[in-house]
Amino acid sequence: MSATSIENTPFTNNVDPKEIEKFSAMAEQWWDLEGDFKPLHMLNPTRLEYIEQGVEGLFGKAIVDIGCGGGILAESMAIQGATVTGIDMAHASLQIARLHAMETQTKLEYQMITAEEFASQHAEQFDVVTCMEMLEHVPNPASIIKACCDLVKPGGTVYFSTINKTFKAYLMMILGAEHLLKWVPKGTHEYEKFIRPSLLLADIDNTSLKCDDLCGVEFSPFTNSFNITKNVDVNYMLRCVKRS
Ligand code: SAH
Repeated sequence: MSATSIENTPFTNNVDPKEIEKFSAMAEQWWDLEGDFKPLHMLNPTRLEYIEQGVEGLFGKAIVDIGCGGGILAESMAIQGATVTGIDMAHASLQIARLHAMETQTKLEYQMITAEEFASQHAEQFDVVTCMEMLEHVPNPASIIKACCDLVKPGGTVYFSTINKTFKAYLMMILGAEHLLKWVPKGTHEYEKFIRPSLLLADIDNTSLKCDDLCGVEFSPFTNSFNITKNVDVNYMLRCVKRS
């Protein structure tokens, strides 16, 4: 299914069809550990541990993963015993995610729906909401943040991750990762859509979410892995709790 088949509804005005087409075209690569999504595979153990620690374990938690793609994070959370739903607007990615879950015999649900529409149907049903590496691909990140807030139960936890709007992020994520190292295809990221933590925090402040942790994620060429750091210059993650 191509992005042009995305129905025009009141809930789809925050979907950029070009972004969905881009991810659909890459869909077969989702589970190729050496493919276009290699950085997400390398990042996954670090972010999974961060999420797990913040909620004292994932077993039995009801989780929705917003913009789940091929299910790299969603599946790893289900393996830890969470009841996970992954949502995305790229049909091809969801098909790959479902196929992979069948192969690994992991039980989780995938749905093609926007965060906003899903939130209108499932208000306050989730213990944890994750929205990783997705905000920099939508026209209106504040609307996604609000949907995440609506989805989580009072007292529940929401995680966001995205890319800072700095010259260093431009050098590393676009010049480095796309043009020099060719880790990800050219055009994966647009500098204009990178988000400063201060702006993200301002959007969070407009909801009932309260940010209780902000940390950077840094690639170490020595260990060939990502580590959590205080430096939020490039990639960063946030943990928020919904006021009860
Ligand atoms: N969260 C996943 C994938 C990140 S890639 C991970 O970190 O492993 C960004 C994902 O956001 C893609 O799968 C893309 O299809 C999805 N996406 C972009 N715009 C979207 C929208 N408006 N609604 C739902 N998903 C969207």
